[in-house]
Amino acid sequence: MSDELIKLAEGMAPAPRDRARILGHFCAHEGCAKHAGFGFARPRQQSTWFCFDHKADGEQYL
Ligand SMILES: [Zn+2]
Repeated sequence: MSDELIKLAEGMAPAPRDRARILGHFCAHEGCAKHAGFGFARPRQQSTWFCFDHKADGEQYL
């Protein structure tokens, strides 16, 4: 993961990937930025995380 700086417009919320550094993981479902408690990983690949609502996506991902 890179440490590139992300510039934000004034008043904008931090990007999910920035908040993820503090809270752990966020859902990988497109458009969903919930905290993800369910991790899925294929061998030799980075794990992907989904929230409770989208954990079925992760089961398809495997
Ligand atoms: Zn989700």
